[in-house]
Amino acid sequence: MTTIIRNVFIGLSNSKFLNSQAKKWGFFLGADKFVAGTTISGVVETVKELNAKGISCTLDNLGEFAVDKQEATEAKAHILEILNAIDNEQLDCHLSVKLTQLGLNLDQQFCIDTMKDILEVAERYDIFVNIDMEHYSYYEMTLDVLDALREQYNNVGTVIQSYLYRAVDDLARLNNVRIRIVKGAYKEDSDVAYQDNQDIDRHFITLAKHRLLGDTFTSIATHDHRIINELKTFVDEHGISTDRFEFQMLYGFRNDMQEKLAREGYPFCTYIPFGRDWFGYFMRRLAERPQNINLMLKDALYT
Ligand code: FAD
Repeated sequence: MTTIIRNVFIGLSNSKFLNSQAKKWGFFLGADKFVAGTTISGVVETVKELNAKGISCTLDNLGEFAVDKQEATEAKAHILEILNAIDNEQLDCHLSVKLTQLGLNLDQQFCIDTMKDILEVAERYDIFVNIDMEHYSYYEMTLDVLDALREQYNNVGTVIQSYLYRAVDDLARLNNVRIRIVKGAYKEDSDVAYQDNQDIDRHFITLAKHRLLGDTFTSIATHDHRIINELKTFVDEHGISTDRFEFQMLYGFRNDMQEKLAREGYPFCTYIPFGRDWFGYFMRRLAERPQNINLMLKDALYT
């Protein structure tokens, strides 16, 4: 049953029609609990509040699958405004981007050039830019774009999904690149990805421990307290310095735990999505966790 529900919401997240309609409708179904508004000035205030609690942030200008180069160029312009705001306000904040928002689905070289314009400005402001990992059909292309960018820029990294069998090899190849480790949010075939949650969790822990013993910075992105607790123990036992890793969670999820980890002295970063293009992101969050669907239903009934 859970698998059916998950597949339904993943299916909805890919609907071009619903994604474009939702941009016009604005937030509903409780999406505002997980998406920090639509304006840069608004999200800047959210970042300031979290920074005041010792939490750093990464901003995601919501959107994926640009329909043409004009739309991708508009997304780039918005991202450059976000970089200016981070610098002007001196926020403890970096950026997360999805390459299909910047034209990867249209023209790979165009996407590389667009990313270079972003990284040029980000480098000037000393801001790190992380490339989110999308569906497996974009995986190779994303790594190719990363390689091309890394020839010129050091302020860029990406995400490794523990549901992929090949994650160990890719992580080894990217051993000098800043990486975020996640479980993986998309529906993938069994020829490329583990389907069983226990396998995915075990793989996550193996990947994270391997990285923590290395020298390059790693973001451990999960809401799973069992994984977090095991890695906290590992970090203590191996005397791993807190400048080598951080925990990350999504905005609106387990807020108490986010603040507690920061209070305990662990480096913590909240991933904050914002913008009008919220539908696909929100549907993937519903696919992950049936309790989020309950929240949505309550919101639909009582608002
Ligand atoms: P789950 O498997 O969802 O949950 C494990 C257990 O944790 C649950 O059984 C429950 O006991 C507990 N738990 C989880 N959530 C809650 C909650 N809200 N309240 C109480 N208990 C809870 N995916 C990608 O494919 N590409 C990306 O680029 C990407 N970036 C991400 C960035 C960040 C910062 C994060 C946190 C996730 C990102 N993801 C990304 C999504 C990720 O792949 C997972 O789909 C998502 O994080 C759900 O998995 P989980 O690790 O949180 O644990």
